[in-house]
Amino acid sequence: MDKAIHIRPRGINTRAVHGGQQRDPSTGAVTTPIYATSTFAQSAPGVHQGYEYARSQNPTRAAFEAAIADAEHGHAGFAFASGLAAEAALLELAGQGSHIVASEDVYGGSWRLFHRVRSHSAGLSVSHVDPADLDALRAALQPNTAFIWIETPSNPTLRLADLEAIAAIGRERGVLTVVDNTFASPAVQRPLDHGVDIVVHSVTKYVGGHSDIVGGAIVVRDPELAQRLQFLQNATGGILDPFSSFLALRGIKTLPLRLERHSANALAVARWLEAHPKIDRVIYPGLASHPQHALARRQMQGGGGMVAVYLKADDQQTAAVLSRFRLFTLAESLGAVESLVGQPWTMSHASLPEQDRRHRGILPNLIRLSVGIEDVEDLTDDLEQALSIL
Ligand code: PLP
Repeated sequence: MDKAIHIRPRGINTRAVHGGQQRDPSTGAVTTPIYATSTFAQSAPGVHQGYEYARSQNPTRAAFEAAIADAEHGHAGFAFASGLAAEAALLELAGQGSHIVASEDVYGGSWRLFHRVRSHSAGLSVSHVDPADLDALRAALQPNTAFIWIETPSNPTLRLADLEAIAAIGRERGVLTVVDNTFASPAVQRPLDHGVDIVVHSVTKYVGGHSDIVGGAIVVRDPELAQRLQFLQNATGGILDPFSSFLALRGIKTLPLRLERHSANALAVARWLEAHPKIDRVIYPGLASHPQHALARRQMQGGGGMVAVYLKADDQQTAAVLSRFRLFTLAESLGAVESLVGQPWTMSHASLPEQDRRHRGILPNLIRLSVGIEDVEDLTDDLEQALSIL
């Protein structure tokens, strides 16, 4: 009689290292090489080894796509030239004149793509809601709603949305749910496990993790949806190149390890800032003071590396603090090994109308920290010296 063998699903650390990884069939190379080729030989017309033309398929990109799909517990992944290229391709799933229900707090670039590009080119309309208000979210759905589009934690104010509840609403109303998982990464949160249909990423951030590439990805659970996206990826053409695919694949291997340190450092920095007299308020999902801390504990493993901080400062004082950092780099972007600081008001969210920024709590005295993996005492020393002018 056969003995039942219980095979545990692989954990995130193993998936990150091995997902999509196969020894190179021609040489046995342990890491997937950079296939810098635009085309592939055919032995007879239409007879090839699965690769025809590198926009359609490239082995380095395919390895990264399999790796990110595995990390997100998805069926298939698709890699793009940037997070916004991924979002633009995804929006092609929504036909002309569609509607989206989106978080109030979507990334400024997503907002710009919805309101200043697709509204003109495809008649897209968008209702923004606070995704914590499930009744408002339900009420915003229309017969032509194509997606419920959520960021959790949101950028930059780190508000959370209940993934399970939102996925259930999507299923009940036949609307696809999309989660931009850039801020958490699959090491901290896997929306597909909560029933969400589509995950989108700026690979530029935690997945790449080293501030050296710009990339994007989409991961889905449903094979039929995967086929539609594969068609769109090839048809719209905004693919991730083989060099960046190689770096993204290298980045994803250490993603869970990096996120452990990002989360530990961010929690320590957030606690340190909460006790600082020049700080008005700290927002971090891992802090007990976060209004949705219980939800964070339910759907996230660790709080991630992003911390939002309101200074007790006016515009000029905030600018002076921002210019004084020595270890934190004042820069756009987030999610890399080195710590970054930014002012959403003038940087990541400057493309939003002022009233929208204010409504969403994006004020001049809000600074956003992307806490890196350095020694945490060096980070708090830098914060101390930068805040000392207040
Ligand atoms: N989604 C989020 C949450 C982001 O923060 C960003 C960029 O900052 C994007 C999407 C867009 O990604 P990319 O800059 O790679 O186009």
